[in-house]
Amino acid sequence: MIYLDSAATTKVFPEVLDNLKKIHQEYYANPNSIHPDGQKSRRAIDEVRRFFSQIAGAQEEEIIFTSCATESNNTVIKGLYEAFPEKNHVIVSPIEHKSVLSPLRYLSKKGVKVDFLNVDKNGIVDIDEIRKKITPKTLFVGIIHVNNETGVIQDLEEIGKLCREKDVLFFSDVVQSFGKINVPFDYLDFFSVSGHKINAPKGVGLLKRKKEVSVVPLLHGGGQEFGLRSGTENTSGIVSLKIAAEKWLQIREGFLEKSRKLENMLTFRLKSEIPEIKVVSEGFKVPYITTVLFPGVDGHSMVIALGRRGIAVSSGSACSTGSPLPSHVLLSYGFSEKDALSGVRFSFGFDTTEEDVETAVKETVEVYKKLLSFSGFS
Ligand code: PLP
Repeated sequence: MIYLDSAATTKVFPEVLDNLKKIHQEYYANPNSIHPDGQKSRRAIDEVRRFFSQIAGAQEEEIIFTSCATESNNTVIKGLYEAFPEKNHVIVSPIEHKSVLSPLRYLSKKGVKVDFLNVDKNGIVDIDEIRKKITPKTLFVGIIHVNNETGVIQDLEEIGKLCREKDVLFFSDVVQSFGKINVPFDYLDFFSVSGHKINAPKGVGLLKRKKEVSVVPLLHGGGQEFGLRSGTENTSGIVSLKIAAEKWLQIREGFLEKSRKLENMLTFRLKSEIPEIKVVSEGFKVPYITTVLFPGVDGHSMVIALGRRGIAVSSGSACSTGSPLPSHVLLSYGFSEKDALSGVRFSFGFDTTEEDVETAVKETVEVYKKLLSFSGFS
């Protein structure tokens, strides 16, 4: 399989895999136990917390380990709502991940006004619109950093400055940017990270919270993670998260350079074979996530046909694959339903090669032409 679906999930780094057995053996004990082996696990977690707090310019108590970014996002959204019931207004982009949109839908049923911003044809939010929408009742502004479908990057620094000026909490889902591009951590009160998007195993995530701000926990129990996330810590996942993040710090410049080359190859070659395609957010996105619209065909059918030829890609977000609905992200850009259904996402990982992209282009062109001839458009 040529794997061009790293935005959905990543392969665990060999360095992480090689260490997993050792980590499970060394840190098997419950970090909440006071005997020496328990304290050894505790120290391992503390060290990882220190590492991430330094990266984020945060206090150690502001780093909370969770099970995934979905949990981190839910904790922020529902937890702030519970803590500040008098604030009944939230401002978000329309291109958030479902793990942000779904808890917001829950909040809207409780009477919170969820104010969706517009995005332009490239998927960018307008900072002036945020400025106009902020009121004394605004609980938080939530803007995804890099969108998981199109790779579009938002200017978190400018939005963060505005939120600070207006004294409103700012939250960002940095799942697709963390480790890979610069994240303006200084401006974020809350952010969420997922282990399996940075080549750590599934089952571990991180939430950075602002210590002075109350958040009601989702899980009540033993009071781990400073009372915000009860449940015995996933020590092996947490230690693996650090190994994976360290590796990204080492490779990220090279990865970005390689991704730019691969992105150029992908889009240039596809355009020269199929001039009518559209690269979404071109010029405004990270190079490692690219959604291409293939007019006249169904992106879902292309993904299935490519899968049969050994190419793993996605249509829309992987989480909604199987759903016949057009992507909410592409609809927000103003694309028609038909265009939004024609999207295929190619996303690169640390080990993607030029040969992978060459083969993917060749197969994609063949599949497109075949599907187009079936659909009666050609
Ligand atoms: N946010 C974004 C931008 C994502 O791409 C994903 C995963 O697809 C998530 C959140 C959810 O992450 P997790 O699978 O860790 O819950």
